Amino acid sequence: MMFLVFLLMVILLYCLVKPATTCRREEIKKCSNCAHPLKEEYNYCPSCKEKLKKQCEECGKMIDLNWRKCPYCD
Ligand SMILES: [Zn+2]
Ligand SMILES: [Zn+2]
Repeated sequence: MMFLVFLLMVILLYCLVKPATTCRREEIKKCSNCAHPLKEEYNYCPSCKEKLKKQCEECGKMIDLNWRKCPYCD
């Protein structure tokens, strides 16, 4: 019983220290400029207006600025 309580405490402490990586399943995307939380579908950061996506020249879909290859076209 004591061991179980101890284990729970350790897990809790671990979650407090590293909440972003261990306790959250989906990682929140943040603006690289101002760290404002972003949604996947955003084209611009609502806080600092940083451009987040660009239009693919081939298919016209909006893709992430840091993607080196458009995943929609070949
Ligand atoms: Zn921003
Ligand atoms: Zn494309």
